[in-house]
This record gives sequence, structure tokens and C-alpha cells, in this order.
Amino acid sequence: MYKIMTPGPTQVLENVRLARSLECTNPDLDESFFDFYKETCELISKLLCTGNETIIMDGEGILGLEAACASLTEPGDLVLVLDNGVYGKGFADFVTMYGGTPVLYTVDDKNPIDKAALEEYLKLNHDFKYATLVHCDTPSGMLNPIGELCPLLKKYGILTVVDSVSAMFGEEVKVDEFQIDLLCGGSQKAVSAPPGLTFVTVSEDAKGVMAQRNTPIASFYGNIQVFFGYYEKKWFPYTMPISDIYGLRQAFENIQRDKDMIKRHRFIGEACRQAVRKAGLSLHLESGFSNTVTVIDVPKETTAGEILRVMRQEHHIMLAGSFDSLEGQVIRIGHMGTNANEGDMEATLEALGQTLSSLGIPVKASMGRLFREAVL
Ligand SMILES: *Cc1c(COP(=O)(O)O)cnc(C)c1O
Repeated sequence: MYKIMTPGPTQVLENVRLARSLECTNPDLDESFFDFYKETCELISKLLCTGNETIIMDGEGILGLEAACASLTEPGDLVLVLDNGVYGKGFADFVTMYGGTPVLYTVDDKNPIDKAALEEYLKLNHDFKYATLVHCDTPSGMLNPIGELCPLLKKYGILTVVDSVSAMFGEEVKVDEFQIDLLCGGSQKAVSAPPGLTFVTVSEDAKGVMAQRNTPIASFYGNIQVFFGYYEKKWFPYTMPISDIYGLRQAFENIQRDKDMIKRHRFIGEACRQAVRKAGLSLHLESGFSNTVTVIDVPKETTAGEILRVMRQEHHIMLAGSFDSLEGQVIRIGHMGTNANEGDMEATLEALGQTLSSLGIPVKASMGRLFREAVL
């Protein structure tokens, strides 16, 4: 067994695993399950500081992103795709797939999207039905200031679709205050349940736009609108994965009880970055570090594959490489959700320092100790 220190999936607590093993009813027919589902959705809305309805869909985080685009996009729509990372750019594919025209706003991928620069752009270009944004672009660990960007877009009448799959609950998300129309999350990142579920909060404005479509939503599984009124109708579009939802509910109850979650992510993130810098390694980004993941450039003397192999074989710890344009360039430590604890982080950084030393890379001090000193 490995210690899973990847930026999702994360470690799953025993009470979540046990909740998934509870006896099941028929979720299509048992009215008590409709109550359970609705109460779980309401808890998610509460934890995300919104009066907007949340729906839970049976699919991994990607389904939420695709469903948001499928449900809003009509053929010919112009969609602004804010891109400073792999997931940022990736939204363009979903827009195209559902007949829209993505307009990429591509900026520096080592720093967060700048509000003032976006404002200059929007003064001249604002004829968009909606915009897509990524809160934490996980392959690089880039944290974008959605709390500044979404209200600005809203000012120009542009709806927002935000992917916060790998940031929410490790970084602050206040849906109403940030004026986010569709916010997408997943079960397997900071929420710390196994992969398999996505959830989306939906604003009244977004519901209005879906209701006024001229063409039907070109998807069934990716149709958010088909869920509306499920509770009154006692009808789901498909059989809900009841055990997954039992686990998700427990994971959210854990989050509800954990009053210091954001603060803990902040100091763990900061201590991790400090240990990396003091060890003489280089962080991939210049600024905009998400407190849910740390992304480190691979020293030129070795490869990402070698570091990850030694970490697994010698230390039984799993870190992640990256993908797309960052494939082979960086390694990533996921410190989100249950992974964000001092003990696991100290052990992970200590092992990383030893791994690098064994590969002939100079490390200035014990990385576990550097982390410990930074935490104190
Ligand atoms: C993990 C993640 C998702 C979910 O999809 P994967 O299949 O795990 O790639 C979506 N968006 C972001 C930013 C993520 O980190």
C-alpha cells in the first residue's frame, strides 16, 4: 500500500469508506433517499456559501465541466475561455463539442490571471454568453482569483462556469459573494471521497438561460436542467449511485466539522513551499500558488519518472508527475483534504529529500526538518 500524496485522488478516511458499505435501499423508489439526496445537496450549498441549488451527478469531475458547457451552449454561442493552464484551455473542447465558438483569452501560465488586464480586454470584447475559468489549474498548481474575476465578468453580463474541482475546501469559495453561476466540484480532491461523483451549484441566472434555450441540450447524461424539480417529481434522470452518495455525505459532514480546514491548507501549503525553496529546489510557478498542490520543477540531473519510482519503491509514497505540456517537466505533491496534515507532509518531504539525494541531486538540508521548522 502506498501513502497517496497525489493531487487527487486523495486519502479517504475510514468513516467515509464505512459509509459506503451501509445497507442500500432502492434509490429510485424509496422516498427517504430523495430526502437524503436533497439534504446532501443542501449541505454542499451551505459549505460553499450559496443559496443556489446543488445537484450531484453520477460521474467523475470531468462530467461536471462537460455538463455545465452542454447545458449552457447553443450552436453559434461565443464563449470566453480563460486560459493559463491545461484545464483552462481544455474547456474550449467542451464548448466546441456542443456547437459553441470558444474565444481563448490565453495569458502567462506562470502567474494568475490579472483582473486589471482582463478588464481592459472586456472593455473591447464582452459579447460572450458565458466564460469558463479554472480556480486551481492542477497540472501547474495555478490558483486564479475567482473572487475578483467572476464579479467582473458578471458586470459585463457574462455568466461564469468555474472549475474548482481541486481547490474548493482547500481554498476559499463563496459562490454567492463571488457571483459564480455554475461551480463544478468533484468527490476525489479536497473533499476526500473516492472518485466517481461530481456536483454543480446552479444560479438562478444560469437556470434562466437554460430555460430560454432555442435548441434542446445536446446531451442526456450531461444535462443539468433535467434534474430540476427531481424532489417534487420524486424522479431522477437515472438511478443514483446510492453508496457513492452515502460516502460523499460523510465526507461533507467531516468538512462541516473541520473549522480550520482553509487555515490548515494555508500553513501546510506555505510550509511545503518554504521547504522546497530552502532545499534548493525550484517551484514551477512564479506566483499564484494553490495551497492544495505544490508543483516542483524536475532537476535537470534526473527525470520525473525516476523520482516517482524511487518514492514509490523505497518510501511507499505516491507523488504525481504532470501531463499535457507539463509532462515530464514537474512533480506534484497533493496536500489537499485529508492529505493536508503535518505528519504525512513531513514524511513525504523527508522521503523526497532522500530520494533526490540518492539520485545525486544536492539537497541543502533534510526536507522533513525544513518543513517542520516552517510549520512551527
Ligand atoms: C481532478 C480535476 C478534474 C477532474 O478530472 P480528472 O479526470 O481527475 O482529470 C477537473 N478539473 C481539475 C482542475 C482537476 O484538478
